[in-house]
Amino acid sequence: MKNIERGLSLNNKMGKYLFVGCFPGSYEMGMANLGYQSVLKTVFDCPQWRVERLFTDTGIRTFEKSTPVAEADIVGLTLGFEIEIFSLVQLLLVSGFEVYANEREENQPLVLVGGPLASLNPEIIAPFADVIFVGESEESLPDLLAAWEEAQDFGLNRQETLLYLSRFPGVYVPRFYFPQVSGTFFKGFKKIDTVPEQIQQQRVDISRFEVFSHIYTPQSYFKNMGLMEINRGCSYRCRFCAGGAIYRPLRQRPIEMVLKMINNLKKWTSHLGIIGSDVLSHPQWEDIIKYAIKNQFTVNFSSLSAITLSRHREYLPYLVKCGIKTLTLAPESGEVKTRQYFGKGLDDEEWTDLIENIIRLGIPKVKLYFMIGKTFHSAEKDLDFIHKLCRKINSNHQLSISYSFLVPKPHTNLENMKTLSFLAWRKERELFETGLKKMKIRFSGESLRVAWIELLLARADRFLAQEIPKLVGQKNGLVFNQWRTVMEKMGRDFDEWPRHPWEDGLFPWSIIDNEARNQ
Ligand code: SF4
Repeated sequence: MKNIERGLSLNNKMGKYLFVGCFPGSYEMGMANLGYQSVLKTVFDCPQWRVERLFTDTGIRTFEKSTPVAEADIVGLTLGFEIEIFSLVQLLLVSGFEVYANEREENQPLVLVGGPLASLNPEIIAPFADVIFVGESEESLPDLLAAWEEAQDFGLNRQETLLYLSRFPGVYVPRFYFPQVSGTFFKGFKKIDTVPEQIQQQRVDISRFEVFSHIYTPQSYFKNMGLMEINRGCSYRCRFCAGGAIYRPLRQRPIEMVLKMINNLKKWTSHLGIIGSDVLSHPQWEDIIKYAIKNQFTVNFSSLSAITLSRHREYLPYLVKCGIKTLTLAPESGEVKTRQYFGKGLDDEEWTDLIENIIRLGIPKVKLYFMIGKTFHSAEKDLDFIHKLCRKINSNHQLSISYSFLVPKPHTNLENMKTLSFLAWRKERELFETGLKKMKIRFSGESLRVAWIELLLARADRFLAQEIPKLVGQKNGLVFNQWRTVMEKMGRDFDEWPRHPWEDGLFPWSIIDNEARNQ
């Protein structure tokens, strides 16, 4: 695999310290993850550091030089989803050093965890991470590594080093905080005197940092595609959206920087993936596309807003010119009232018109995302909506459906929502899938079991998280009976507790001061 990579060669860099960048998934997925590639490049650019990679499917030693992970100075992980916590724990269990942060010895690596999950609910990472970085790291990661180097130069021990690092913005050192829980009430944190009350989530001025792929391989999930981020955050405020909550406000990269990134990618690939939660909101969106097409790129997008597309039908011909074969949009619900409550807008007619237009213009397939297991209405309404769509476009094979369950995430407007039960979710799934099969529509969906564990972890606290090492050996932490036993000992009901675990509006994730959310 190494031999067919092009672009940045991590092997070519010497440095006093070793950073092992671990990805909580396969090589194929890791190389298609712009956030992971961006962290590798940020550390690579720090003069004193060399970087090696580790994936869940490439062995327990590093991908570059087969180095044991325990020889790293810092082991870094970017976690996106709750379920990835199992990869972190599995990695630590085979790494040759302690899985729990407060049991690690002086000479063992520092485990540094960041990524979206760290901003959503760092408490489920807390037992395992020495340092959690909360927010966007482009600016702070080099400073944090420099601070760690200083601590080494001063001869500080592990505890003193962590105390030193805890003063930096966005740095959460869980061992200095002591969560207080009483039944279903989260009572806040006790802490040592010298650390901040709350951790300020970090945001960067993205116009100062380029973010694009640096390593290209046909074995990446997106093949040789070069990825580039043009904006961050989103102008919409969908109530359920974790991405919207943690990346607010919407920030745009200047066109000159975007064109420069395209020129860089041109050296390595002719496939361009444009990344951003709200790609179409870029004020020079059309210029970017024209430039990419002029430079003979095929272009794909991470996601597109149906509201923007509906308001700007003039954008559609560009998407056709980009060579898009499947356009993905997310109504989330088949009921207009729920869509409006979520913040997704567009009534049924606007949706059906938009999709009819897309297909008429020559994009052969439209994939629609739905959330099922909603408390607001049953999946029957979603099926009615899909049925209406099929009649309007006079086709069912041009539509495909992807679904997940409504898991209320921390920091969103739904964080305190009581969910349906597991059994009700199962019924909803059966209803939805049976209806889609009757309509002969292709679909794929999230595993029900995974979704329930995701819900549990999204709302969990440190006390529950510290049980995870006992559970990961069992089919990657997805055996319900094991969870039942563990939770019963804690006085928590596995089937009920995840539905609405905390009363009184104080949560384990209240440790994060998410300024944009509070505005
Ligand atoms: S438009 Fe998409 S990214 Fe933006 S808030 Fe809504 S769901 Fe999130």
